[in-house]
Amino acid sequence: MDSTRFNLQATIARSKRAGIYLHIPYCRQLCYYCDFHFSLSPQDKDELITAMTREIALRKDYLNRQATDVRTIYFGGGTPSVLTLADIRRILDEIMSVFSVSTDAEITLEANPDDLGDDLSPAYLFGLRDLGINRLSIGVQSFHDHELKAMNRLHDAREAVRSVEEVLRCGFENVTLDLIYGLPNSTLESWSHSLETALALSPPHLSCYHLTFEEKTAFANFRKKGKLHEVSDAISWAQYQRLCDRMGEAGYEHYEISNFARKGWQSRHNHAYWIGIPYLGIGPAAHSFDGESRQWNIANNRKYREAISRGTVFYEKEILSDKDRFHDYLLTRLRTAKGIDLRYLKNNFPTFYPDFYREFARYLDTDLLEGKGNRYRLTEKGMFQSDVIIGDLFVDSG
Ligand code: SF4
Repeated sequence: MDSTRFNLQATIARSKRAGIYLHIPYCRQLCYYCDFHFSLSPQDKDELITAMTREIALRKDYLNRQATDVRTIYFGGGTPSVLTLADIRRILDEIMSVFSVSTDAEITLEANPDDLGDDLSPAYLFGLRDLGINRLSIGVQSFHDHELKAMNRLHDAREAVRSVEEVLRCGFENVTLDLIYGLPNSTLESWSHSLETALALSPPHLSCYHLTFEEKTAFANFRKKGKLHEVSDAISWAQYQRLCDRMGEAGYEHYEISNFARKGWQSRHNHAYWIGIPYLGIGPAAHSFDGESRQWNIANNRKYREAISRGTVFYEKEILSDKDRFHDYLLTRLRTAKGIDLRYLKNNFPTFYPDFYREFARYLDTDLLEGKGNRYRLTEKGMFQSDVIIGDLFVDSG
């Protein structure tokens, strides 16, 4: 066993914690920017949930049970708020019967405003609370009707506001909203309006993503055909700066490139991804990580169900090389406000460190990196350019 692996395992054993991610692969409508795995046909939902509960039981040893306490559970997708309370109960009951789940576990459900803003939603929301869901992530994206329409979202701005108010009124405290900036035809003013509307609702956490044109999405296709134009770099940059300034003024910590939280309200589940805590991913297209390997389930609902019921392989797996782990460390830690520890890199990845440091040193006197001693992190400007910087720091050797 090499020293890197030994250290990593020691860290994981010490941490004794893990997360579970559940991929709910259904949506009511296709959003034009999205490349996640989902289906618009929920007819097989019951069978799929049966397959997911079987997968939970099949993978009972994945998290190395004697060393592991499940601290976070995350219903993502897709659109988990298409699930009924009975669906969610089936999944949670299976998890509780198989794993040791902390009594104070963070249990998040992603929800769309169109599932939360109508007259039936209080019953649904109180039901979620009774089931133990204690964090809601609401996919607002924008507070402009024309932007929501351009993205093909199902809700409008009024419904978005109402859904957040309803969630807060029903007693959820741990609430986060997703917003997207850098949208086609957006301006600094239009972005400021969405941001200020979100801040006026006062959620303890906000996730704000810059739009990316993922391959094979409708937006990428529109752009190729010249039907849609990206915002200029200058507008993107101004929107990002406004975001950082306003969130700071409003008392939120910029703790990860796209994430802002009031003190004590960081996402525990996502934070665990960024610091290398193992997680088990259940459902079609879900990814898992155990410290030594990554695996990902078939991204096809029917094939996933059939493989689980036949007992055949339903995932692909890759054992992580030292270089993969080195790159993972850079990729995840440099996204966060804690940044990287040079001593850790030097001690655990001596083969790659000299090449890495040569590139790293080029950034030391720039306004993209800050730190001292062994701890360094990207500045806010650096975070905006993180893809390029992290790419530069990756090594070819080894
Ligand atoms: S953005 Fe969310 S709701 Fe829209 S298609 Fe993608 S997964 Fe579904």
